[in-house]
Amino acid sequence: MIEVNKLDPKFRYEVMRERGGEKISHCFTCGTCTASCPVNEVDEAFNPRKIIRMIVLGMKDNVLNSDFMWLCAGCSSCQERCPQGVSITDIMMALKNIAVRNGITHPAFQVQASEIYKFGRLYEVGDLNDRREKLELPRIPEKPEPIRKIYELIGIDKLVESEEINQE
Ligand code: SF4
Ligand code: SF4
Repeated sequence: MIEVNKLDPKFRYEVMRERGGEKISHCFTCGTCTASCPVNEVDEAFNPRKIIRMIVLGMKDNVLNSDFMWLCAGCSSCQERCPQGVSITDIMMALKNIAVRNGITHPAFQVQASEIYKFGRLYEVGDLNDRREKLELPRIPEKPEPIRKIYELIGIDKLVESEEINQE
């Protein structure tokens, strides 16, 4: 059900200002993107045509607070086939950027971002370096500082769960 009083008519323009979002209004809801989408094959709830329509209608809250864009595999099958030249894959990426700017991120990505902030990689090296030394392999560098600088520069350090960082 669409709640008209919650629609944001400016949302489509917000997406149009993002790279790849320019042609979103060209969509004529043919469904070729959905028929091409491998994620839709395993989960019908993920429907690129529907997401594009929701953006055009201004359903900002519904789109940004859904799992939709986080499930996109970025394969570009939809984008390659869209007869209207809508850059669907780029729009999914744009939605993630807009969501993050609005302080919204998927919990799975938040955990990954937190791990990278702490360790400079997706996992703690731990005693792996000791085992590598025994095998005369070079040590894996453990320097998260450059990564943290990048986080600060692009503003995603605020997304990292402070609790986890404070446990260091
Ligand atoms: S393939 Fe293109 S025109 Fe067709 S529904 Fe998807 S975005 Fe719209
Ligand atoms: S890029 Fe995303 S939306 Fe498009 S077909 Fe691939 S998984 Fe589906």
